[in-house]
Amino acid sequence: MTKNILILGAGFGGLELSSRLSAEVADEVRVTLIDKNEAFKFGFSKFDLMFGRASMSDISLYYRDIVKPGVEFRQETVLSIDPSTKRVTTDARTYEPDILVVALGADYDFHSTPGFADGGHEFYSFDGALALNEVLNEFKSGSIVIGILGQPYKCPPAPCEAAMLLHEWLTERGIRPDASISLVSQWAIPVPPSPDGSKAILGRFDELGITYMPNTVITSIDPERKIALTDEGGEIPFDLFLGIPVHRVPAVVEASGLAEGGWIPVDDRNLSTRFPDVYAVGDVTSAPAPKAGVFAESEARAVAEYLIAEIRGAGSPIPFQGAGVCYVEFGDNLIGKVNANFLPGQSPTAPFDDASLELAAEKGEFATERKRRWFTAP
Ligand SMILES: Cc1cc2nc3c(=O)[nH]c(=O)nc-3n(C[C@H](O)[C@H](O)[C@H](O)COP(=O)(O)OP(=O)(O)OC[C@H]3O[C@@H](n4cnc5c(N)ncnc54)[C@H](O)[C@@H]3O)c2cc1C
Repeated sequence: MTKNILILGAGFGGLELSSRLSAEVADEVRVTLIDKNEAFKFGFSKFDLMFGRASMSDISLYYRDIVKPGVEFRQETVLSIDPSTKRVTTDARTYEPDILVVALGADYDFHSTPGFADGGHEFYSFDGALALNEVLNEFKSGSIVIGILGQPYKCPPAPCEAAMLLHEWLTERGIRPDASISLVSQWAIPVPPSPDGSKAILGRFDELGITYMPNTVITSIDPERKIALTDEGGEIPFDLFLGIPVHRVPAVVEASGLAEGGWIPVDDRNLSTRFPDVYAVGDVTSAPAPKAGVFAESEARAVAEYLIAEIRGAGSPIPFQGAGVCYVEFGDNLIGKVNANFLPGQSPTAPFDDASLELAAEKGEFATERKRRWFTAP
């Protein structure tokens, strides 16, 4: 009997899951993939918008181009989810699938840091990154502070990448001597699971004159005085504040009762939730891995393995492997690579490959390969 599988969210997790199901069991499933947007965009494309290297349409991979047997994409907004009945209401209709997968990612709470919405800018949303480009084009001199406002946040090295790319951007414009760049973090080192990667980043910061302020918690922004205030009463003056906003589950997930302690708890092996036939993958979960696309897709592969074995009534599904590579932009087209392993039940490891031009080509291939895997006919 054909299984109706409803996937909410067509990001890294939703796209990986739908393409795996299509590749393996297209004739035995009817997969409906829902997203409120018309196109997927890689998280790292936000830097292209921020630094004016590309437009919104340049970085968009349109869902209408998906050609995957057994998969139908629908552009709809999810309005409510009832995990006990698996009933989902969108702005277009109601669904009652056999299997429900929630892959709705993480949202931002701009108001939980007082003063941030008025006194800061951000590059963590696509609109924010685009708006920031205009602000940067007006910037002539002064102190730029990048502040991480909460944990967990997507792609732990991204704030460091922003600092190093900012250095490059200001240098190209001839105004680097007139500006300072600081990164304020709650962590002692930039990427705690990767001491090697952190050492390389801090070495590059020294080379580029970027200040790293460790173990510092920003609690609010004073837009009038242009000061970030810390939990210990410290004051960090800025001319331009770029904040990594506090993350949270989307409101529709919050209202569904699926989340506990902020995120959706899941079984480490197959990403099932406590509700029968309801799974969750990616940033929306509290799975033991960083919030990054590579882990969202690795979790989606584990769900696919379980569903494929269930549908075929055979096979031993491989559980969530917790492995993923993360490319880190060092500026000047140099890219480093963190080889992270968050295998459940073991201490995380994340050895680092030094930044090189060769890795820039590899990162390009990472995007091309996913575009092919997620969008084109088998
Ligand atoms: C600056 C920056 C750089 C990054 N660089 C990297 C990197 O180099 N490598 C990496 O692996 N990760 C990177 N990331 C992180 C990565 O983008 C995310 O972790 C990843 O997208 C998470 O995948 P996901 O499937 O869980 O959620 P998402 O990809 O966020 O997908 C969730 C989808 O749900 C949809 N949605 C949400 N609510 C609704 C609703 N109510 N109705 C319908 N649809 C809805 C959204 O439109 C979205 O398409 C970066 C992030 C940032 C901010």
